[in-house]
Amino acid sequence: MPFQVIKPKIRGFICTNAHPTGCLKNVQSQIDLARKGIEPTKNAPNVLVIGASTGYGLASRIALTWGYGANTIGVFFERPPSGNKTGSTGYYNSVAFHQMTVRDRFTAISVNGDAFSDQIKQKTIDEIQEHFGQIDLVVYSLASPRRLHPKTGVDHRSVLKPVGDPCEGKTVDLTSENITEITIHPATAEEVADTIAVMGGEDLEFWVESLLSKDLLAPQANVVAYSYIGPQVTAQIYSSGTIGLAKMDLEQRVNAIDEKLLDQINGRAYVSVNKAVISQASAAIPIVPLYISMLYRIMDAKNLNEKPIDQMIRLFSEYLGPNLVPRVDENGRVRLDDRELRPDVVAEVDEKWSLVSNDNFHQLADFEGYKRGFRNLFGFEVDGVDYDQPVETEVTSPFV
Ligand code: NAD
Repeated sequence: MPFQVIKPKIRGFICTNAHPTGCLKNVQSQIDLARKGIEPTKNAPNVLVIGASTGYGLASRIALTWGYGANTIGVFFERPPSGNKTGSTGYYNSVAFHQMTVRDRFTAISVNGDAFSDQIKQKTIDEIQEHFGQIDLVVYSLASPRRLHPKTGVDHRSVLKPVGDPCEGKTVDLTSENITEITIHPATAEEVADTIAVMGGEDLEFWVESLLSKDLLAPQANVVAYSYIGPQVTAQIYSSGTIGLAKMDLEQRVNAIDEKLLDQINGRAYVSVNKAVISQASAAIPIVPLYISMLYRIMDAKNLNEKPIDQMIRLFSEYLGPNLVPRVDENGRVRLDDRELRPDVVAEVDEKWSLVSNDNFHQLADFEGYKRGFRNLFGFEVDGVDYDQPVETEVTSPFV
């Protein structure tokens, strides 16, 4: 089958191919960080991870498997390889994840398809019933630009826009690498509603209802959904923009789920507010890549920076792991963004943000690091991989 040399195909914030060996190495290095020497055991927790193939979802799956011996069922929507076209990064990550679970004798099942659909929910439920019994933890880590609504058939597309007033701010053009001032016009009411339909909490409610109706949530099961807030410099485009309103909807629905779980199974539902990281989802948000490349320089210098795997290890070891009652903020949220929003970090971001221009961009921001981090997501520029060697891209998967 196609043995080929693969070089990154990047346009702006999109990379259309992926390197299987680089993805494997990325998964292995996350496992090395998460591994606690746990052997597979009969009473390991059963975890459902929705959005399990990249970013925070994959990191959660790895942290729970190698840190706690969890049996995981992961749901994601990834493109398999076809002819000379590579699979998507989440496809290769998940193939690698399965290879490693087989090697270390952990139980893992992956469902590849649209998590918003009734059909994939049913397929996941069938797998849980057949192989797992009940679920102890549901992790909701979806990031998607669209949702075909399973009840109405409407195809909702999310937008990343301010709400109310136009947003004026600095951004970096990922192709020309120039800092430019941009004006983004506010979303229409319909665009706001569409973004809430995609990235809000209705789909998580559907998941929880489906699981509860089949008695598939164990007594005291937890649900955790990921959110982001960020600082003032990204507020217009993030926290008070369309995506911020969607996250508010998610939080409100998580609170409703929390009440339901407490009532029915003595379980709990939480939002975890995670820090900004380089991911496929965050690269697509205007202003945010410039912010992240400045933030990383500042947090690295203070030895505070964390990747998704560091955040997820901290989430389960300090907040949501076995026998822990999580510390939460006044709104009931876990705050893994505490270091990003530390006053000295925020003050330095504010100061540098007001100064950044094309002249000083590379001193004030770690843009080289950002680009490397972005390429790493797709398995490129990963240490120890010889990119001049051909690799097999037509890799088969054990996904159902
Ligand atoms: P990501 O793009 O790396 O991962 C998204 C996941 O969702 C992938 O596994 C993908 O396959 C899956 N997915 C997308 N559409 C799907 C569909 N229709 N059906 C099934 N699976 C689908 O995203 P990420 O950056 O890790 O973000 C995950 C969550 O964390 C999001 O809720 C995001 O808002 C939140 N978060 C992200 C950041 C950040 O800086 N990236 C910070 C804080 C919180």
